[in-house]
Amino acid sequence: MGTKIEENDRRDETVLEQNFALPPDKKPWRVEDSEKLYRIEGWGAPYFSIDAAGCVVVSPKGDRGGSLNLYELVESLLQRQIKLPLLIRFSDILDDRISRLNACFARAIARYRYPNQYRGVYPIKCNQSRHLVETVVRSGKPYHFGLEAGSKPELTIALALLDPEQNKEALLICNGYKDREYIEMALLATKLGHRPVLVIEQLSELDLALEIGQTLDIDPILGIRAKLSTKGSGHWGNSTGDRAKFGLGVPEIVEVLQRLENSNKLQCLQLLHFHIGSQISAIAAIKEAIREAAQIYGELVKWGAKMQYLDVGGGLAVDYDGSKTNFYASKNYNLQNYANDIVAEVKEACEEREIDAPILVSESGRAIASHQAVLIFDILGTSDTFAIEGRHRENIEVPQPTPKKEHLILRNLWETYESITPDNYQEAYHDAIQFKEEAISLFSFGYLSLKERARAEQLHWACCRRILDITRTQEYVPDDLEDLEKNMASIYYANLSVFQSSPDAWAIDQLFPIMPIHRLNEEPTQRGILGDLTCDSDGKIDKFIDLRGVKSVLELHSVNPQESYYLGMFLVGAYQENMGSWHNLFGDTNVVHIRMTPKGYQVEYVVKGDTITEVLGYAQYKAEDLVEGIRRRTEEALQDGRLTLEESQRLLQNYERSLNSYTYLSR
Ligand code: PLP
Repeated sequence: MGTKIEENDRRDETVLEQNFALPPDKKPWRVEDSEKLYRIEGWGAPYFSIDAAGCVVVSPKGDRGGSLNLYELVESLLQRQIKLPLLIRFSDILDDRISRLNACFARAIARYRYPNQYRGVYPIKCNQSRHLVETVVRSGKPYHFGLEAGSKPELTIALALLDPEQNKEALLICNGYKDREYIEMALLATKLGHRPVLVIEQLSELDLALEIGQTLDIDPILGIRAKLSTKGSGHWGNSTGDRAKFGLGVPEIVEVLQRLENSNKLQCLQLLHFHIGSQISAIAAIKEAIREAAQIYGELVKWGAKMQYLDVGGGLAVDYDGSKTNFYASKNYNLQNYANDIVAEVKEACEEREIDAPILVSESGRAIASHQAVLIFDILGTSDTFAIEGRHRENIEVPQPTPKKEHLILRNLWETYESITPDNYQEAYHDAIQFKEEAISLFSFGYLSLKERARAEQLHWACCRRILDITRTQEYVPDDLEDLEKNMASIYYANLSVFQSSPDAWAIDQLFPIMPIHRLNEEPTQRGILGDLTCDSDGKIDKFIDLRGVKSVLELHSVNPQESYYLGMFLVGAYQENMGSWHNLFGDTNVVHIRMTPKGYQVEYVVKGDTITEVLGYAQYKAEDLVEGIRRRTEEALQDGRLTLEESQRLLQNYERSLNSYTYLSR
C-alpha cells in the first residue's frame, strides 16, 4: 500500500468509506484506574492515596490515622497568598520515617537476640534545611538519634542543634575531609557533652587528630572509613572500591593501626564506617558489604582497638517507581528486611569470632527525608504538535478529503490517512513519513505554497494520530513505532525550574513519581512531557516511572485555560533543594511545613521563596542601583518626549513591584 497515486488514478474521495475501526465502547474511567496508572500504592503507601472524588489524599502519620486532601490543601495555601510552585513538607511523615526505621531495628534486635543496640544518625547533607533538621532532632530524641556531618558547615549545624544535656547518647559522626579547625571544633565539643566520632578518611587526618587531641588533652573518639571491595550498583556504585574518592584501603587501615599502636592510642579507635553508595536497590549488595565489613571489624578488635560501633553508612533505598525490584529507581527489600539482614549478619560474624557485638549505626538520609516533601506546580499551557487554535489533539478534525486539484503529494498523504487499518499501520507510518519529507523538499524548491505545506504537515500528524491509536490497542509495538508516542506527546509547560527543584531529574535522570493531584476520577486522555520555565532545552522531564522500566510520556488531562491544573512531584525531600541552582534566576520555591493536629492540620512554618531582588543579589546586583539606573533613563526619555510622565511612573512601579515578587509565574 501507500505507493503514490498516479495522475490518472484519481478517485472521488468524498465517497470513500471510513475503513478505520473506532475503538469499542470503553468502560468509564474510575479512581482505581488512576491508582493503577500512576502506581501510587507502590511508591506512596502508606502516605499517599486517592479519594473517591479523584484527589490525592495524604496520611502523614501513615496508618496511624489522620489525613487531608492535597488539592484542598493547595487551594487553601493559595488563598493564604502562598504561590506555586510550592514545596509542601509533612512533618509527621518525617516523624513516621524515623520511628519506622528505629522500630524495624528494635524488632530485628529482639528477633535475633542481638546483644547490643541501634543508634541511627541523620546525614545532614541529605537535606540541611533548618526546620527539617530541627524536626529530625526532636523526633529522633526518644531513639537517641544523632546527626552526621560531612563538612565543617554541617558540623556547625550539628553542634548547635544536638543538645547533649537532653540527649546524651546521640552520636555525632564527623565524616568528610577535615582541617585543623574542623578537628579542633569537634574535639572541644566533647567538653559540652557531645560524642563526636572523627571518622578518618585520609591518613593525614589521623596525625592531625592525635596532635590536636594531645594539645587539648582530649582523647579523640576515632573511626575509620573503609573502602570495601563490595560495590553498590547504579549511579553511586563508585562510592567504594579501589578507585573510590573516600576512605581507606586495607593497607592504609593497617597503617592507621600501626600509628595508633605506636602512639599508644589504640583505645581511641572505636568505630568502623563504610558507605557503598546511595540508593542501593539490591539487598544482596548490602549483605555482601556487611559481611566484608564485619570481618574488618573483627580484625580491628583482634588488633586491640577498643571497637564499639559498626556504622553501615547510607544506601537504604527509596522505591521511587513502586516496582519493588532491583531496578535503579526501586529496591527489592523493605525497611524490616534491611534491619534484619544487618543485625543477623553482624551477629553471626561476631559469634564466629567470639567478640562483643557492636552498637549498630546507620546513616540513612534518603529513606528518612524523601517522602516528607511534595512539590506542587501548575501547568501554564500546552503545546500540541498539531493543535490548531488551542484545540486538543483528540478534538482535531479529521482532514477533509482533498479536492482533486490539490497537489499530488497532498493526495498521497490523504490516501495514506484514509486507508490506515490495524493490518497496515506500520507501512502507513513509513509512507506518512516519506510523504511529509517529500512535501518539505517540494516546499524548499518552491513547488508547494506555505498553506500547502501546512496542510501536508497536518495530514501527516493526522496519520500519526490514527496510527498511535492503533498501537495503543496492540500488545506488541514494532521497534520503529516505539518513538511515536513520544513524538506525538504534548509539552505541558510547568511553572517550575527543573534545575532548581529536581536537579537530579536533569543531571542523573533520576525518576520521581509525578501525577495530577486532582481530576483522578477522569481519564487522562493526553500524553505529555513537562517543559520547565528555563530557556534551556534540558529543562524538561521526559522520563517517568513505569512498571517495566521508564516511560517517555506521562498520561495527563487536557487543560482548560480557565481552570488550574496541578501536578505533584513526590518523594523529592532528599538531595534536591540543596543541589538546586538558579538557572535563569529562578530562585528557591516557597516552602510550607504542615503538621497534623486533633482538629485537622496546621501550617507550622512558611519559608518564603526567593524574590527577584534576592536572586539578583546572588549575582551581585543591588536592587537600589538597578532602580536608580532605570529612573535615570526614564528621566532622559521624559526630557526627549519619548515617554509621558504617566508612562514613566507606570514603568517604574512595574519594575519595583517585579523586584519584590516571586521569581516564578503567576496565573
Ligand atoms: N553517609 C555518607 C558518608 C554518605 O556519603 C551519604 C550519601 O551519599 C549518606 C550517608 C546518606 O546516604 P543515603 O541518602 O543513601 O541514605
